[in-house]
Amino acid sequence: MRASVLFEQRKPLQVEELELEPPRAGEVCVRMAASGVCHSCLHAADGSWQGVPVPIVLGDEGAGVVESVGPGVQDVKVGDHVVLSWAPTCGRCHYCVIGRPNLCEKRLPGRGLLPDGTTRMSLGGKPVYHYGHVATYASRTVVAESSAIPIARDMPLDRAALVGCSVMTGVGAVINTAAVPAGASMAVFGVGGVGLNVVQGGALVAAHPIIAVDVKTSKLDHARGLGATHGVDASREDPVAAIRAITKRGADFTFVAVGDARAMAQAVDALAPGGTCVLIGVPATGATVPMDPRPIVTGERVIRGCSYGSARTREDLPRLVTLYQAGKLRIDELINRRYGLDEANEAFRALAAGELARGIIVF
Ligand SMILES: [Zn+2]
Ligand SMILES: [Zn+2]
Repeated sequence: MRASVLFEQRKPLQVEELELEPPRAGEVCVRMAASGVCHSCLHAADGSWQGVPVPIVLGDEGAGVVESVGPGVQDVKVGDHVVLSWAPTCGRCHYCVIGRPNLCEKRLPGRGLLPDGTTRMSLGGKPVYHYGHVATYASRTVVAESSAIPIARDMPLDRAALVGCSVMTGVGAVINTAAVPAGASMAVFGVGGVGLNVVQGGALVAAHPIIAVDVKTSKLDHARGLGATHGVDASREDPVAAIRAITKRGADFTFVAVGDARAMAQAVDALAPGGTCVLIGVPATGATVPMDPRPIVTGERVIRGCSYGSARTREDLPRLVTLYQAGKLRIDELINRRYGLDEANEAFRALAAGELARGIIVF
């Protein structure tokens, strides 16, 4: 199996031939078709998130075809087209049972292991870790059955790949986490791969206005193409004042799709009384946000986190595929560059430079 491997944070990725064990009980092996290049992987590579185990195969967004299944696998079969979910679920723990499987207690976030606590990849007999339980920068990967979500066969797999992280996270933040009603005002801080999907989630539920905030004019233009009614260039004007000028009383919902503490503070300041700020981007290890608690208390404002768009993966991922196929969700417009597996470093450079909505690696 060929994979792009991170041997050390802040060093380039290297393509290697790795050994891949066959799937064990409750696991499946997937031949990858495409992988999105996600900002979380860039954070892991550039060292802004600490404690990433190495060597590791990055990639938390992908789609492919099931090549083999381990003992006891029931819901996935050889030949199925699947979107990969970086949040495997056990179906039995407290959170799975109460309908919040994205918080499954059996997940081992950040440790680079499959749910049984081991790896299937190795190099020269030494373990290689699985980023986000799925390790999609690889020609083949072994994942938990609950990470492989079957989808319609006529869905193009390169576009399906994005459903697995950025589309689910962004659209899910609007329709699941915040449950934005029609006519509510919203502002989206950071309109990269996830933020653009927050914008189109807002368009899907008929939020209005939908204000995109970014420091790159090209990204604001892209956001307008996906349903933003206004664009605010935060490098040139104060986004809080601009949002208040557009909405009068402040935004009913603000979303922060970038791991930036200043944007988080601004998104709270821009809320209307009774409004909700949804934090999606994960900031650097150790970051803190200053907060004046008085308007939170007196105006009953809410600050809440959003992990994976509050996904119930087995339900939501196929639903998003259906919405794409029905022409209600746009994914083609999100992909602006395609790379080979050996071009992951260039994809990271372009992502860090703000040149990408979504770059994808195709196999
Ligand atoms: Zn991701
Ligand atoms: Zn669980």
